[in-house]
Amino acid sequence: MIKDGWYCCPHCGKKLFKVGTDPHAKNCYFKCKGCKKVIALNFEQ
Ligand SMILES: [Zn+2]
Repeated sequence: MIKDGWYCCPHCGKKLFKVGTDPHAKNCYFKCKGCKKVIALNFEQ
């Protein structure tokens, strides 16, 4: 989920990284530092 320009973990709400800093980061996976869950990133609008 995106909140205040940050991509946040949908499970615990922890801010992960700023949206738009890496336009290539889509359709990849990111492990949350907060809850350790793996999140599927998808920035395609
Ligand atoms: Zn999390």
